[in-house]
Amino acid sequence: MTSFSGIQAWVFDLDNTLYPTGATIYERIGARMTDYVGRVADLPPEAALELQERYFHQYGATLAGLVKHHGVDPHDFLHYVHDVHLDDVEHDAELAHLIGALPGPRIVFTNGGREYAGRVTARLGLDGLFVDLFDIEAAGFFPKPQPEAFEKLIARHGLDPRRTLFFEDTPVNLETAHALGFRTVLIAPAAQPGESFPEHIHHATDCLKSFIRERILPEFR
Ligand SMILES: [Mg+2]
Repeated sequence: MTSFSGIQAWVFDLDNTLYPTGATIYERIGARMTDYVGRVADLPPEAALELQERYFHQYGATLAGLVKHHGVDPHDFLHYVHDVHLDDVEHDAELAHLIGALPGPRIVFTNGGREYAGRVTARLGLDGLFVDLFDIEAAGFFPKPQPEAFEKLIARHGLDPRRTLFFEDTPVNLETAHALGFRTVLIAPAAQPGESFPEHIHHATDCLKSFIRERILPEFR
């Protein structure tokens, strides 16, 4: 489990994985989700937030609950909630260099929408580095951690999970990944040195860039 030299494909979550968790972009999206939930479920903000969080925990994405129980048009939802500024997402030339050095296809795997994933990766300076921005629509609106999302990703790209490394900041998403055979890396900014993790977390790092630079790339030199 310690060698990366057999890895042939690289899968990255988007939010809080490819950009630092300090960015408040996800809070802005969350606030727009609360607005949206309040509108379609006719709830005041506090109750809307509660329902938003319940759907998130139950299905892996608020959208899945809204489609199932409120007949929401997923495109309308994605367009609305992702209409946020990205001013605090900074161009990261070093990240681009490191990701670009990973041999084999690199894929973004997000519960968000493709257009938004395109905006974020462009803003980071990562455009052109990924063969696909695999979004919730490509996953048939099954969000991570539902196995269907992973199965669609595997089928679309012909992945061998045992030779695919998946980077993600949401631990529950790594449970499904592990169950399906993926190799996993948790992006865990609050991890303590020497902290131990459950078996579905094969590796953990507080910094994606140093992990790629110091742990992965030396095996390919
Ligand atoms: Mg994330």
